[in-house]
Amino acid sequence: MSRLWSNLVHTLSPYVPGEQPKNSDLIKLNTNENPYPPSKKVYEAISLANNHKLALYPDPDASALKEAIADYYTVETSQVFVGNGSDEVLAHAFLALLKQQSPLLFPDISYGFYPVYCGLYQINYQTIPLDKQFKINPNDYNITNGAIIFPNPNAPTGRLLALDAIESILKNNTNSVVLVDEAYIDFGGETAISLVDKYPNLLVVQTFSKSRSLAGLRIGFAIGNASLITALEIVKNSFNSYPLDRIAIVAGVAAIKDEQYFEQTCTEIIKSREHLTSFLTKNDFTVIPSHTNFILTKHNSIDANFIVKKLREAKIIVRYFNKPRIDKYLRITIGTKQQNKLLCDCITAIIPKSCK
Ligand SMILES: *Cc1c(COP(=O)(O)O)cnc(C)c1O
Repeated sequence: MSRLWSNLVHTLSPYVPGEQPKNSDLIKLNTNENPYPPSKKVYEAISLANNHKLALYPDPDASALKEAIADYYTVETSQVFVGNGSDEVLAHAFLALLKQQSPLLFPDISYGFYPVYCGLYQINYQTIPLDKQFKINPNDYNITNGAIIFPNPNAPTGRLLALDAIESILKNNTNSVVLVDEAYIDFGGETAISLVDKYPNLLVVQTFSKSRSLAGLRIGFAIGNASLITALEIVKNSFNSYPLDRIAIVAGVAAIKDEQYFEQTCTEIIKSREHLTSFLTKNDFTVIPSHTNFILTKHNSIDANFIVKKLREAKIIVRYFNKPRIDKYLRITIGTKQQNKLLCDCITAIIPKSCK
């Protein structure tokens, strides 16, 4: 606290990301990064861009990346916005589109950054409880104005809402922006991008951080009606002209073009997720059905903090949220096949025989 700070800063409680340990011998199953490396095409593109042009500013519109994304999803480039990670895209959307007279709605259990942006931009919000199985009920989201945001699949629950349920939310709220945060959609969900032409109130946000193994480069994007994208561009150009650097732009293009590698790694992760889910279920854990690269799970009798501590002793780190309704659960990122096996062995060792 300092008398030199602005009044706003005194009111903020910033987002706290999962630990990024300095010690690299830990198995990181705590921040939903992809355990597989980026595509080889990404490395090639980066080495080609490693030249004197780094002395020059990048393309402020990142047009090459927008075109590659537009191509991949068969939309117009005017329907694509790109930013420095989807967190930045979301931040701009909060200011440009979600700040309205009526409160913004989002689920009581969802991405921890949403209330933080509301604090930063002084947006009123109201949380809507998920049901007992941690599901979103589309009928809870009927409003006349204001706006709606939720992750799909939801985080940190992992639960997927089917596309027809998303469509019913869009139909019931044609005067409100509905932002669907699809950070994990590539791990078995169906994207709502197919609905953007039909629903001008829909904005879909995605990231290269999870399914495309590029968390370290910070690339996120939004797809929606061109008029929503214009609002995002106005805010972006009032904040930072060059959110994506030259390396990120070429790497993003290479990543989205390597469909084969993308599909192969997503398939591996889905397989490991199903394997881990059945292992945990057999070992007396409750697992929320996940369509993401993580699972939210609790043991039916052993304390979550005890398991977190024991896993850490075995050099595996997972995420724990000390938040209402999920404070008995751990969130485990899906690792490689080998990491998955280590995790299962470790859990077998932790659980006393009587619990098996
Ligand atoms: C990881 C995540 C993001 C942020 O991703 P970045 O592109 O790395 O900023 C956004 N929303 C949800 C729900 C996430 O889990």
